[in-house]
Formats: sequence, structure tokens, C-alpha cells
Amino acid sequence: MADQLIRATAANGGIRAVGVITTRAVEEAKQRHKLSYVATAALGRAMSSGLLLASSMKKEGSRVNIRIKGNGLLGGLMVDAGLDGTVRGYVENPAVELPPNPQGKLDVGGAVGKEGFLYVVRDVGYGYNYSSTVELISGEVGEDIANYLMTSEQTPSALLVGVFVGKDGVTASGGILLQVLPKAAEDPTLVTALESRISQLSGFTPLLRQGKTLSSIFTDLLGDFGLEIFPEVQMVRFNCSCSFHRVLGALKMLGVDELEDMIVKDGGAEAICHFCGEIYQADVDHLRELIEDLQVIN
Ligand SMILES: [Zn+2]
Repeated sequence: MADQLIRATAANGGIRAVGVITTRAVEEAKQRHKLSYVATAALGRAMSSGLLLASSMKKEGSRVNIRIKGNGLLGGLMVDAGLDGTVRGYVENPAVELPPNPQGKLDVGGAVGKEGFLYVVRDVGYGYNYSSTVELISGEVGEDIANYLMTSEQTPSALLVGVFVGKDGVTASGGILLQVLPKAAEDPTLVTALESRISQLSGFTPLLRQGKTLSSIFTDLLGDFGLEIFPEVQMVRFNCSCSFHRVLGALKMLGVDELEDMIVKDGGAEAICHFCGEIYQADVDHLRELIEDLQVIN
């Protein structure tokens, strides 16, 4: 199924539900960054989480940045996801691989580390950012994001994210987010019912691999709660906003002396975008043009 995001409500608007499929976007991240299996799972879970968090924002151009800095070998990861369905991200040490955990699953918690912090920045699109930090509880990403939603945004949330990756690459990735909104949060039976339904699921990727669609997953979970699925389907894709023009802008900020140094010592400059792995080469002529621009201004 194509990468996509859909929204739904239930319980007369008391429950907000979002589902996302990120299989291709996570495969692209895996290839661009040469990610190990466990790094693919960690980054993929965070990419799905980012898109799920961004989906509740209102203004066009809104984005969510998730940074996880744990004490594991992965060293940290960063995701940037937009309300428009674009997502990008990277991990610090993409080659780290670990043996499976006692449940026989990829040891994301071990690779991320169980101690550290989760940072979430919401760029709400009016030139304002809201940032928040919570301690990691397991390093498994999904649990940490759900804990962030509960403690920082005071929204009881059930979040399930997963990545299935093997020899054939990423064959299933995505997640669902169920949130109990303030008007329904007073109803403890609703929260308990949702929690127990989510906990009965053995994960998100088995559902996708059984051929279920996001709509059918919602129907299974919330069909008897007055489910309403919105008809709009948001396409999702890996996309990076970097460009040669932006790289030149960043080089220009280094100033005349540094640029002249690069011409003499390196015969040009090379920049790699952390987010997508794209390599940009600026030759001597590009650097000379930047120096001329700077000298005109001065
Ligand atoms: Zn890039």
C-alpha cells in the first residue's frame, strides 16, 4: 500500500485517530543513510511518530522535529516531519547493529538507550516554536512519544509504531495514534477500553503484513465507538528541503577569509546534508562568486 496518512474520529469527537503508512519513506531513509536493521527500525518508528504528531497541527507549513538522545550506541536520532506529509531524518551512527532482544525483536531500546532525553519542537507556522523535553522511559520510541504526549501535552494517547525490515528491505512501516480529547477524558471507561484494545494488538506491522488497510484497522479498533473516517488521504513521502542554493548560503556565512582558505587548501568545498545524505560540491568558481558577493556588501 502506498505511503499515506488518514484521520478519523470516534465517540462523538471524543477520540481522535490518525494512521500512517511509511514503508517507502523508511526504505528510502535506509538506502540514503545505509542504515542497519536496528537503526532502520529506530528511525522509522520516529519518522512515523513525527508524521502522526504533525497531523494535528493547523497551519500550512507546520512541522514537528523529534530529537532523541539516549545513552545507546546509536548516538541519537533526528526527524523532521510536516503536516504536508513530508518527512526526513537521520541517526548519528547508522551502522550500529545489535542482537535481537529477549522477545526476538530488533533491540531498538538497546540501540537508542534507556536513559536520555526526547526533545519535541513544534513549528506552528506563525514564526513560533514550542519545544518540550522529557526523559526517555524505554528508548523504544513509541512508548517515549506516548509518554511525551501524556506528560507534556496532557493528552492521554495510545501510540503504536513499527517497522518490519529484513533482507528484502523495509516491507512494512507505520503506526497509529489514538488520543482521548479533553471532552471525553473525564470518561475513564473510554480510556481503559482504548488502552486494552491497543494492548491486544501484537504490533502495527503484523496488521499491514496481513494486508489490512488503515481504514480496516480503525474499523476493527473503533467500529463500535461511532467511527467516522475522513475521506481525505494525505500522501506521505521522504523529502528533504536542502538544495545547492542553501549550501552556498551556508558557505557564504563562513566569511571571506575562510572561503579563501578553502580555495587554497581544498580547491573547493564539499557539504553533506545530514538529513538526506545528499553531497554538494562547490568548486573554486562558486567560492570566488561568494567572496565577490561578500566584498560588494562590505
Ligand atoms: Zn537534504
